[in-house]
Amino acid sequence: MVVHLPTLSPLGASPLRRGDVPDAQWNDWRWQLGHMLTSPEELARVVALSPEETEGLAASASLFRVGLTPYYASLMDPVHATCPIRMQAIPRALEADIREEELRDPLGEDSHMPAPSIVHKYPDRVLFLVVDRCGIYCRHCNRRRLVGGDEPPTTSELDAGLEYIARTPRIRDVLLSGGDPLLLSTRRLSHLLRRLRAIPHVETIRIGTRLPVVCPMRIDDELVAALREFHPLFINTHFNHVKELTPEARAGCERLVDGGIPVGNQTVLLRGINSSVRSLRALMRGLLRSRVRPYYLFQGDTVIGTDHLRTPIETAMELYRGLRGWMNSMAVPMLVMDAPGGHGKVPLVPSYLESIDEHEVVVTTYRGVRVAYPQPRERDCTVPYDAIQFAGEPPDDDREGSRE
Ligand code: SF4
Repeated sequence: MVVHLPTLSPLGASPLRRGDVPDAQWNDWRWQLGHMLTSPEELARVVALSPEETEGLAASASLFRVGLTPYYASLMDPVHATCPIRMQAIPRALEADIREEELRDPLGEDSHMPAPSIVHKYPDRVLFLVVDRCGIYCRHCNRRRLVGGDEPPTTSELDAGLEYIARTPRIRDVLLSGGDPLLLSTRRLSHLLRRLRAIPHVETIRIGTRLPVVCPMRIDDELVAALREFHPLFINTHFNHVKELTPEARAGCERLVDGGIPVGNQTVLLRGINSSVRSLRALMRGLLRSRVRPYYLFQGDTVIGTDHLRTPIETAMELYRGLRGWMNSMAVPMLVMDAPGGHGKVPLVPSYLESIDEHEVVVTTYRGVRVAYPQPRERDCTVPYDAIQFAGEPPDDDREGSRE
């Protein structure tokens, strides 16, 4: 087979390919984020664009911006357009084929915003949208209406968010998101985290970020040292394919874990990108080897322009069956769907239960063997010591987020 590699950078164009860039620049996260590939011309310098990609780039120009770091671009297969990195970063023409049932805001976030930068849907936790830029604009993004770098949250909007959290004592957990919070300078991020930590009822802080995947050089010693001050703090990242688990990405995750910061991963199930048992097993095992805990496997949201990337629910559940039992359970994420319209996450668990009565339960194991489990004779499961352990404490405030 004759392989046609893309032509070299034209004279005068700034270098974007790994071999053309000095190490000091390549390993500098600011250089990476300052040199994102955003145009068909720049992408064509790294890969041989397929007709479908060329058409998709033209069609998406008015829909959702394109952008990825030179590092992430360096992982793209220069020849095969079915490469999972390419398919996450470069739009296809189908992205412009918007279906009636697709939504701008599939998670119903806009109607749960009690302050400009806060989404409060669940009883005890909020999303704090601190930035509107990312290190990649993922073709499956469910927040594409908000990200892109056109309307960053202002200081007064962030102040209003902090004030809402401070005056709402049932908020125990804050998830910093956006956009990608690690795009903030370390100094600005620390400032925000310090103000959050000063709120007594905020027990845990989480940061959702794709930078360990698309710009692992951002996870430097300065950042880890800064984050360590704000425990308990967790990082949730977003690897979708084992090809993304490069030595650099693994080292970034390990730096966080070595710094005492637990790292979890959320994968989006993407048709033709990771929708095979083989691909998912390799990813989940690779994550665990990198000391990253697979956390959620998301069924694709019904966001505009992503119908071609979603898997049927039956396929998602079959794929899940190919994980559970066949590998270390710590490597098996929970399969969930975000119910359209902002109704929250629903676990999609294939049924292993065949029958149940008060004497016996019959289950089918991961290998398809039917086994009976005898029920206990006693049925009262109240915990008498609760009354002592929790004496004087009010019950949980289980009202829905900001709407109640
Ligand atoms: S990094 Fe996250 S917020 Fe940004 S485009 Fe990708 S999925 Fe959307």
